[in-house]
Amino acid sequence: MSIRTSLFALLLLPSACMGVPSPLTPGFEGTVGVPQFGVQTQAIQLPVAAEGFVRFRVLGHHYWGLPRLVKAIGDAAAHVASEAPGGAPLVVGDLSARNGGKIPGHNSHRTGRDVDLLLFVTTPAGVPVESPGFVPIDADGLGFVQETGEFVRLDVERQWELIKYLVRSREIGVQFLFFSQKLEALVIDYALAKGEPLEIVHRAQTVLMQPTDSTPHDDHMHMRIACAPSEGVSGCSGGGPYWEWLPEPTPPIELDDTDLAAIASDDPLVPEAVANSETGAAGGV
Ligand SMILES: [Zn+2]
Repeated sequence: MSIRTSLFALLLLPSACMGVPSPLTPGFEGTVGVPQFGVQTQAIQLPVAAEGFVRFRVLGHHYWGLPRLVKAIGDAAAHVASEAPGGAPLVVGDLSARNGGKIPGHNSHRTGRDVDLLLFVTTPAGVPVESPGFVPIDADGLGFVQETGEFVRLDVERQWELIKYLVRSREIGVQFLFFSQKLEALVIDYALAKGEPLEIVHRAQTVLMQPTDSTPHDDHMHMRIACAPSEGVSGCSGGGPYWEWLPEPTPPIELDDTDLAAIASDDPLVPEAVANSETGAAGGV
């Protein structure tokens, strides 16, 4: 990317209107815009199942996400399966549509950076079972399954193992884990009782958040990953705080006098072919 192209892309970033790739924003690709107003390109699809996870909707159309989000889901699920063997798979809800944009039932999930993760649960007696769906869990850790008339219990051990893996990784770059306060209390109490590193507990407490503009998220956990440092110039817009343990966003390009002089002398009205032929003539090549 030339200095001028980079500069052009950076100048466009603050504009709220630039949420989609267009002829005016040729450098925009990947995750573009904010999660509530944006799109994605080059998404990949989460497999129907792999080690440690299954999709909630086998035939769903909204399982497309940034490659690094899809990888993070698979890695995290496989980690939980190996760290706490004998459990049920993580059940994965919606990511985004193939090209992003609005999908039914969600305000965000538009840029390939969001995913709904159903909760790890057990029977009331503690036997792991696959999540029966979006079952609200109360402060006592129990949830009533309408379809079966039975209760399930939050599998706090595996839920914490999942959260710990996600917040420990700088590469995954979790920005938020939307989760009800009641469930956060259960999980954090467990982590502290287990003697987990306080830095990791602090990260979890920071990103775990009960949203104020939607459901309390007591029946699933919604993960949003932050823009990676390199994604800023291609259109990713944060839409929230950037935590201190994540990699630094790419700083604005520093231009010295030579760069500025080169930009100033580069006449954008001279077609490239003409400029090259003039250079060729002068050089005698
Ligand atoms: Zn969600």
